[in-house]
Amino acid sequence: MEAGGTKFVCAVGDASGRIHAEERFATTDPPATLASVVDFLRRGSRRFGPLAGIGVGCFGPLEIERQRAHYGRIGRTPKAGWSGIDILGSLAEFACPLAIDTDVNAAALAEHRWGAARDVQSLVYLTIGTGIGGGVIIDGKPVHGLMHPEIGHLYPRRHPQDRDFAGVCPFHGDCHEGLASGPAIIARRGTALSDLDPADVLWEIEADYLGQLCAALVLSLSPERIVIGGGVMQETRLLAPLRARLRHWLHDYIDRPQLSTEIERFVVLPGLGRQSGVLGALALALDGA
Ligand code: ZN
Repeated sequence: MEAGGTKFVCAVGDASGRIHAEERFATTDPPATLASVVDFLRRGSRRFGPLAGIGVGCFGPLEIERQRAHYGRIGRTPKAGWSGIDILGSLAEFACPLAIDTDVNAAALAEHRWGAARDVQSLVYLTIGTGIGGGVIIDGKPVHGLMHPEIGHLYPRRHPQDRDFAGVCPFHGDCHEGLASGPAIIARRGTALSDLDPADVLWEIEADYLGQLCAALVLSLSPERIVIGGGVMQETRLLAPLRARLRHWLHDYIDRPQLSTEIERFVVLPGLGRQSGVLGALALALDGA
């Protein structure tokens, strides 16, 4: 189950990563949304037999440490009605192991197992959409730590032609999510990136912020690959200027071909397309079962 802020994707799959049944529905209020999940899983277990495990990739903040009291619950979120909701508790009727991680850690896991990062051991999966999030895999394992990484809320240096916009993050204003998410683009221009004039400076500003974010990740986590997806990245013409801005911000400091001649293989689109999230949840289920 991929629990997103705008949609939920539920699927039944097997150990090879094959999906046998899948449904998507809009994220509404928690009781209605979770009732749809349970209904799907009940039908799935009648059709395919008892489920061996359930994996959940969920929007954060999220309690993902098993020993903590609120394990499996959503934390303080601006999404109305969802703070404190017990995601794993809602699945208690299914007598199988449950595993939960952030949606982006799950997607990173799927890209590592089946997608664009199969040949490396450390990667960051970034999603640029309604929000900005990042999942981190180091030595093949998702990073948790104190809570879990919240990469989208790092602060960039402001672009010289973007000094006046306050940003849309309810917590920080002009963090990366506040400046470069889909809603931040709409707040400035009243339209999504795809409808903007190609000459609009916002293209350059967007690529610059995303390049800065990738530079911060290279410097702090030293990933072997950055996989970047999400609704905003459907505009694949962002990729080339993003890579250029990444190189600009690093100033040749990291002496690796991945950041010069091989950069097209370093910052890449998801190999699994829109399926990274739900396949990540399947990977969590397989690891937890
Ligand atoms: Zn923020």
